[in-house]
Amino acid sequence: MGNQVELLVSLQVVDQQLRERTEAIEALQQGLAGIESELAAQRNLLDACRAERAELEARRRELQGALDDEESRMKDRRMRLNRIRNEKEASAVRREIEVGKEGNQKIEEDLLVVYEALDTVAARETELQKEYDAIEVRRAEQQAKVDTEVATLSAGLDEARQRRDELAATIDSELRRQYEAIFVRRRGLAVVEVRGGTCQGCHMRVAPQLSNEIQRNQRVIVCPNCHRILYARAETSVSA
Ligand SMILES: [Zn+2]
Repeated sequence: MGNQVELLVSLQVVDQQLRERTEAIEALQQGLAGIESELAAQRNLLDACRAERAELEARRRELQGALDDEESRMKDRRMRLNRIRNEKEASAVRREIEVGKEGNQKIEEDLLVVYEALDTVAARETELQKEYDAIEVRRAEQQAKVDTEVATLSAGLDEARQRRDELAATIDSELRRQYEAIFVRRRGLAVVEVRGGTCQGCHMRVAPQLSNEIQRNQRVIVCPNCHRILYARAETSVSA
């Protein structure tokens, strides 16, 4: 049984390295996902701003068209006025010209408001675009960094997993399953040393009788407190 627990200790070293690398890869990818969602949020703001500007542009064209129409009607009225000899008709056209002028003034005021709004929106769009570009640069840098680091971390991962499986195959399957369950539950620490009568996993004292049994190595013993598999180093068993 002693040999089996020793094999578990070796397996745990490999498993810890695998776990560390897998977690590092996940952390890198999560970091990248963070920047990507930041970029998507910024793209939404930019799109909304562009839609607002397009709406204002449409309104500007509409008002400009109305102004042009009104101007050509005004030209007509002035020509008509030059030809009219009848004073009553002339005053009616003059009245039309007055009303037209008022209408024009109103359109010009509306246009001014639209132009001001367009300036504001254009300035905001420039700002948003600048921020978007900065995030995009950051994302590209991070992507390159993540790609390089993930490639380094992934190199030899398959071979390591294969070696792990070969080592695992030499361990009693029931013991291995027990170890694997503890490894997952206890976040990568399933087999721990008993040193100075203390479990190195949870730092609780282990009863002397149990300690002696662990030294003898005749059966698999788990810590009564943290349920990790316990072992004692050969050196300490010599001095015992
Ligand atoms: Zn313990």
